[in-house]
Amino acid sequence: MQQMSVTAGKDKPADSNRKIMIGLEVHGYLNMAESRAKLFCNCAINATAEPNTTICPVCTGQPGSKPMLPNREAIDKIVAIAAMLDCRINERLIFQRKHYSWPDMPTGYQRTMSGSYSVPVGQEGSFLGIGIEEVHLEEDPARWDPETGQVDYNRSGYPLVEIVTKPDFASSEEVRVWLRRLTATLSYIKAVNPDLGIKSDVNVSVAPDFGRVEIKNVNSFRSIVRAIEYETARQQREVKEGKKVSMETRAWRDGEGISVFMRQKETAVDYMFIPDPDLPAVKVTASEIKKIAEKLPEKPAAKIEKYVKQWKIDHVDAEVLSSEILLAGLFEKVAVVVNPILAARWLRRELLRVLNYNKKELEEVKLDERHMIQLLKLVESRRITDETAKGILEKLVEKQFDVGEYVRKNNLFAVAATDILEKYCEEAIAENPQAVADFKNGKEKALNFIIGSVMKKSRGKATPQQVTEILKRLIK
Ligand code: ADP
Ligand code: ZN
Ligand code: MG
Repeated sequence: MQQMSVTAGKDKPADSNRKIMIGLEVHGYLNMAESRAKLFCNCAINATAEPNTTICPVCTGQPGSKPMLPNREAIDKIVAIAAMLDCRINERLIFQRKHYSWPDMPTGYQRTMSGSYSVPVGQEGSFLGIGIEEVHLEEDPARWDPETGQVDYNRSGYPLVEIVTKPDFASSEEVRVWLRRLTATLSYIKAVNPDLGIKSDVNVSVAPDFGRVEIKNVNSFRSIVRAIEYETARQQREVKEGKKVSMETRAWRDGEGISVFMRQKETAVDYMFIPDPDLPAVKVTASEIKKIAEKLPEKPAAKIEKYVKQWKIDHVDAEVLSSEILLAGLFEKVAVVVNPILAARWLRRELLRVLNYNKKELEEVKLDERHMIQLLKLVESRRITDETAKGILEKLVEKQFDVGEYVRKNNLFAVAATDILEKYCEEAIAENPQAVADFKNGKEKALNFIIGSVMKKSRGKATPQQVTEILKRLIK
């Protein structure tokens, strides 16, 4: 069997010229949408349940209890994640026991696919230029509160994915951007439960001859970035003072923004890994892997490239549009029939603004792309003004309707006929002599007042550019 554990050799940086090396072990809760069950028992996954109400002898580690066969949904989800991260996927997976003594682990060992004798689900992958060492599955321990001594077993046995990167990051900023894209990518396959968040162990080393320091259990993107910055600076200071940075495990204290020494780095031997005798090897056949891989969506990174290169969309807009699979899908459907740049602007700015304002998710709105296309075609052909379109979009987010019919019924077509507009402008000039005088005296801003008055008369169906032109012509 392959040796996958930490060895001294593995911790030697490959490139001794490089200064800062950062590697992550990212943990996320699998989104068990179908079975809603834990990994080795049928207890419910319910993050809001009262403490110790979704438990059984298996997940509380009662003497003599035996795990059920691993939840197949968890295996399939892990395979999908590994495939999204371009990993080689193994067909025979081994759970092993990782022994440690801590109040959150009643059996005294965690069942995991990582460790000395394990075969991880995926290995040798890569994601946006960062190597993926392993992707594997493990069970979550219970929640132990050191202040009160109380243990909540609800989470005990939740399936977790662990994604171990190579130490390929060189800065906290790289990590921040990468993690954001990782979450976007995993959200495409709804693999990870977004409500439960991610946590990460953060490994940092600053010089070729110094050991890596692992900071355990950092709980949010923001804390991960802060922990890296703090730890990098701390190690650099030690190096400068001529000290040796030893291989050690530290804890992150979020409130204080510091890392503190926990223990010397444990080794594979400390964990006394053994293959779990209660759990047979999990088989994933080549055809199952193929089936899962075939169903995977196009990745955000590929979409960004397509949007920018083929459709000439601004990179930041492309990133936002691809961050959510529904938004990306809507954009792609719209962009084949109306100008992609116009579509990008309306979806990324206006639609997201309206959704945000109404505190709604695209998923709840069930926006029909045919209506969006109708709307943007009317904008593109200038048959309605931006103002009118914004108003319609606000209504569309509430309920779906035929946009063409709505515009016709409410007579919302843009006032293109110059004679009507000229009439409005003449009226506005007559009604606002002071503003006209100010404008003539060089106060450019006074014109806005008159424009506003014309826009009111046209009920937003005129474009400000058009009105400005006419007013300037009439006033001179
Ligand atoms: P462990 O279980 O001991 O934490 P893993 O193999 O699970 O070991 O994780 C090793 C992590 O440490 C990986 O994320 C890897 O990228 C990182 N790492 C290894 N060497 C270095 C190094 N020199 N500097 C920073 N990170 C490192
Ligand atoms: Zn249970
Ligand atoms: Mg670790």
